[in-house]
Amino acid sequence: MKIHSVAGEVAVEQVQKTMIHEHLVFDLSGVRNDTDSILENNDALNLEIEKLKVNGCNTLIEVSNMGMGRDAQSLYDISQAFNLVIVASTGWYKESFYPDYVFTTSKEDLAAKMISDLTVGMDGTSIKAGLISEIGSSLNEITPTEYKVFEAAIQAQKETGAPLSTHTEIGTMGKEQLAIFKNHNVNLKKISFGHQDLNLNFEEQCLILDSGAYMQFDTVGKNRYRKDEDRADNLVALLNKGYEDQLMLSCDITRRSHLLSNNGYGYSHLFTVFVPMLKERGVSDEVIEKMLVLNPRKFLAY
Ligand SMILES: [Zn+2]
Repeated sequence: MKIHSVAGEVAVEQVQKTMIHEHLVFDLSGVRNDTDSILENNDALNLEIEKLKVNGCNTLIEVSNMGMGRDAQSLYDISQAFNLVIVASTGWYKESFYPDYVFTTSKEDLAAKMISDLTVGMDGTSIKAGLISEIGSSLNEITPTEYKVFEAAIQAQKETGAPLSTHTEIGTMGKEQLAIFKNHNVNLKKISFGHQDLNLNFEEQCLILDSGAYMQFDTVGKNRYRKDEDRADNLVALLNKGYEDQLMLSCDITRRSHLLSNNGYGYSHLFTVFVPMLKERGVSDEVIEKMLVLNPRKFLAY
């Protein structure tokens, strides 16, 4: 069981504090029609990474996929320059971001493309993906094409054993995504539900966790969507119900204006602001270590 990083397989013990759902280099400017949604390998990113390393974070899970401006070579270069474990992703995001071919390609061929990314390399390189992500649904619906991508992703998961994490739009459709995985007899220990800190339905969060799957509180710092204080209270409530072995954390940085160089909160907000909030609420160092280190190791290894 290894973690499949952009620089090859690494032993699970090499993985320290981990951000489970991030974007380092990507480009959503075409769909969003604004240049704020371009992240590049530049000085602004270097500053972020130096601060992360000071905070003990050495592993970044990069969930940009096909259609999101994924850049395998840059991820490899960053991993080498900073001695980081970076795991790259294969898959397609959600309908509004799909490249045209996704609508016309068969489920089997989409699965084959993902399997190739995981076993041969991405985008003409020998740099392999180590995760199927972020596989998404739209707000309050899973479109027919999104359903096809879910089925293709499940096929790729089963053939490779790779982990799979999802995107839920503002936390919606988690229960419906779970139903797809259950109907296809997926090993839920290899599945993680994204953006569930934006799901205000506590019962549904518990239902998803009762399946044995992982869950991400991965929009930490996005106070416009939900205040971190509420996010922390929600997380503590789930911890108090005993789900500490299934929860993982991240910030999902997606804009230049989120970066420290542009007076944003930066990736390290997770460690410098949110973790202290959890400690204030009585969460132990041991449980924080589970969410940042041990759970990501278990989820990612195959
Ligand atoms: Zn997302």
